[in-house]
Amino acid sequence: MDIKNNILETIGNTPLIRLNRITKELPCTVAAKVDYFNPGNSIKDRMAIKMIEVAEAEGKLKPGGTIIEGTSGNTGMGLALGAIVKGYQCIFVTTDKQSKEKADVLKAMGAEVIVCPTNVEPEDPQSYYSVAARLSKEIPNSYHMNQYDNLANRLAHYETTGPEIWKQTDGKITHLVCTAGTGGTITGTAMYLKEQNPGIKVWAVDAYGSLLTKYFNTGEIDMNEVYPYFSEGFGEDFIPRNYDMSIIDAFTQVTDKEGAIMARKLAKEEGLFCGYSAGSCLKGLMQLKDSLKKDDLVVCIFHDHGSRYVAKIYNDQWMMERGFLEVKTFRDIISGRP
Ligand code: PMP
Repeated sequence: MDIKNNILETIGNTPLIRLNRITKELPCTVAAKVDYFNPGNSIKDRMAIKMIEVAEAEGKLKPGGTIIEGTSGNTGMGLALGAIVKGYQCIFVTTDKQSKEKADVLKAMGAEVIVCPTNVEPEDPQSYYSVAARLSKEIPNSYHMNQYDNLANRLAHYETTGPEIWKQTDGKITHLVCTAGTGGTITGTAMYLKEQNPGIKVWAVDAYGSLLTKYFNTGEIDMNEVYPYFSEGFGEDFIPRNYDMSIIDAFTQVTDKEGAIMARKLAKEEGLFCGYSAGSCLKGLMQLKDSLKKDDLVVCIFHDHGSRYVAKIYNDQWMMERGFLEVKTFRDIISGRP
């Protein structure tokens, strides 16, 4: 018999899928680690379960306790899955920038969701960082996971994502391309891969409006780089502890428009219905492609599924309102104008 004991046993071992059309201008093979195959539809299931396991082992999360986290949705989904199976409560603090569908999904999984304003400084008492930290002090037997500074985040990728990619490519991977938010995915995966082969190049993809790229290039934390953007799940307005910048070889920033357009192309040309950041990841690769050679094997990490973005990048109206999609007239359509 092959019966999983519970949903958590389906986390990880996601497929690596060759891109056949969208990267045909590149000289080498490009494969995507498609992590929407996780049960919570995102890569964050991996680190959510690891954070719970580490908190349990350290005695910070006790039976019947409450998990508190500032999450844009994907981490929340992973934590909610863990909480259901292991018997914890969840309170998630998110921002008004995130898709409403993401919050609704978390509520469907039994979590309480508190929405905070996006455009405030992290130190502001209204920010989702501050609210999450305050609730964990006020609620008895609760634990704030803090995915930004909790090193169980990158450890999950060191223990699972990295080894899976190494095995799936027979150790032939030459480049890892990954959007960077908390830094857990890129740092943990790269730590494992570079231990196997220090020659592997690690390319981070960032958003405009995030200070990560400038920090990487200059070591300077420049708040003038920080402004609101539409891309979701990556880019930061501070440097989380999960980063080891020395393991990253290059950073590139992708516009909201180009990331969104690339995500739509991925769906149409490869049948990969992914989230916003997957489009940005691929666009980032295209921006850095000049050094690639015939025998290279590039692995892009695609973090989540497109279903969470149907009202956003997969909605023509939303795209047109932001100037991401040209409005086509009837005359354009019959004349075949692109
Ligand atoms: N894309 C999406 C959709 C995400 O949810 C996240 C996690 N914040 C990332 C990219 C970036 O991953 P990480 O936080 O591990 O850097």
